[in-house]
Amino acid sequence: MKVTFLGTGTSQGIPVIGSDHPVCLSENPKDKRLRVSALIEVDGLNILIDCGPDFRQQMLANGVQRVDAILYTHEHNDHTIGLDDIRPYFFRQGDIPLYAHPRVLESLQKRFGYIFASENKYPGAPSVQEHPIENKTFTVKGINVLPVNVMHNRVQVYGFRIRDFAYITDAKTIEEEEAEKLKGVDVLVINALRKEQHHSHLSLDEAIKFIQKIGPDRAYITHISHHLGFHDEVQAELPENIFLAYDNLQIEI
Ligand SMILES: [Zn+2]
Ligand SMILES: [Zn+2]
Repeated sequence: MKVTFLGTGTSQGIPVIGSDHPVCLSENPKDKRLRVSALIEVDGLNILIDCGPDFRQQMLANGVQRVDAILYTHEHNDHTIGLDDIRPYFFRQGDIPLYAHPRVLESLQKRFGYIFASENKYPGAPSVQEHPIENKTFTVKGINVLPVNVMHNRVQVYGFRIRDFAYITDAKTIEEEEAEKLKGVDVLVINALRKEQHHSHLSLDEAIKFIQKIGPDRAYITHISHHLGFHDEVQAELPENIFLAYDNLQIEI
């Protein structure tokens, strides 16, 4: 299984438009972060997690030829608003399968009414297959996916475990029985926004504590704000099996 970090930034991305914060001005490519998304290549399938505003650019940068499924974590704009750009995949492959909580599918229906229209569809509009998911294992073309329920302040978010890899973003709190589902993973991806506390995201210390509780071989931090600091400086302070993810990083599991 191969995982590509397509984007590792928080909702505004880094650099933030018009910002003169030193991290936004950094010339280190690892300090430039598109909005969060990841591509999981497993048994010949391309499974995408989230489809945000940088989707087109991310697909081009990584030469992604097919999208076999999109799994949505939640409905926030930075995770969903790229859906129109599935068109090239739709033209080649047909309806694109979407897996999400029913509430998230409803939100997509409102934002992209023309994609979900059942009649009089505008020519050229893409179509999707809707797969509502519950908090129990589901299958994407033969691959088992275990949802992990986390809370983003008051918003419910799904993380996903596939075999010994788990990906969680936009978490602030995770109940014990959900954390149990992560035990035994080789690689855990989890969000940390910055060092200071935030009402809906884990801070760096909170994420490290959580990683140490789960005990994966390796962990990668994503959904990063420019307020966290320079990539290289923050990385140097981390325990030896915890890494800041960066855009286009690829890992094998
Ligand atoms: Zn987000
Ligand atoms: Zn969010």
